[in-house]
Amino acid sequence: MKNAEIVLLKELLASPKKIVIIPHKNPDGDAMGSTLALGQYLTKTGHSATVITPNDYPKFLKWLPGDNQVVNFEFQNKKAKRLIKEAELIFTLDFNSLSRVGDMQHDLEKATAQFIMIDHHQQPDDYAVVTYSDVTVCATCQMVYHTFEMLDATHLVDADMATCLYTGIMTDTGSFRFRSTTATTHRVIANLIEKGADNAYIHQQIFDANSYERMQLLGTALTNLVKLEEYQTAYITLSQEELDKHNYQKGDTEGFVNYGLSLDGVVLALIFIENKQEGIVKISLRSKGDFSVNLMAREHFEGGGHTNAAGGKSDRSLQETVDYFISILPQYKEALNE
Ligand code: 5GP
Ligand code: MN
Repeated sequence: MKNAEIVLLKELLASPKKIVIIPHKNPDGDAMGSTLALGQYLTKTGHSATVITPNDYPKFLKWLPGDNQVVNFEFQNKKAKRLIKEAELIFTLDFNSLSRVGDMQHDLEKATAQFIMIDHHQQPDDYAVVTYSDVTVCATCQMVYHTFEMLDATHLVDADMATCLYTGIMTDTGSFRFRSTTATTHRVIANLIEKGADNAYIHQQIFDANSYERMQLLGTALTNLVKLEEYQTAYITLSQEELDKHNYQKGDTEGFVNYGLSLDGVVLALIFIENKQEGIVKISLRSKGDFSVNLMAREHFEGGGHTNAAGGKSDRSLQETVDYFISILPQYKEALNE
């Protein structure tokens, strides 16, 4: 954050305000952890702050401290719309474009509040009076901790807030293994553990809460895994029928794409997941090294993200989407074999 922006943020928060805090649609651990921790900080410092999610999120995140206060735009639409309309400040966390909030976009565009963005995705849009964007930081949760540092407020971080921030850093770094994990990340994590984040408990809540159906669905995903030797690429498909057969619940496919990337020699992995209700195929992309899935998702799948992790969608059928993907691969052959 630039100095002038820190000053402005301090000014904006100097008197009690009506504030809403928004994560992206289909919020993940980083989106929920960062919004919940910030919400607790703002409440602690005298504001009226509410986290509003664009839609529902996986059960394995619903144990996070403060979760019971979350307003869901889909399920509590009237209340959410009123809070957005009345808000004086709107924090948008873990996304870079208002198009990432789904149906809530229109309400945000109409809102009279001033916006503050905290985010680590590439190419942020310009809609906020304070834009704290840093694509080198592994998680928005780490940036929220740095925001507390800039506001001279780390002494206010309690065990609940530390738990939320630890969770988001852990999930967005693949448990501290991705390239974006730095010494600073580990210093922040050390502080969070000292403030009461229980690392073993958090890992257990996130990773040891599988349903039997999810494990069976993973079996199907692995059976469907295809390796394209020539392109050092692997992909997985899951049809709506396969999801239904295993009683698919939101979040069940989280992390499946990483099994493709775990293959020796593979530098690009994708998962294509059919969503009949939305009439789309949702795509997750992952890479190793310098191959940018952000660019691939932007160019071909109406999406984006980071260099090594991105998402997007397709309006074609599942098979047509896969065929299209295979048809564009030759143009990436060189980059994939570097
Ligand atoms: P995931 O594949 O886990 O859903 O997302 C990977 C990364 O890409 C995350 O940082 C996520 O925010 C981003 N992402 C996922 N889907 C989309 C999308 O449709 N559009 C954009 N711009 N980013 C996405
Ligand atoms: Mn994130």
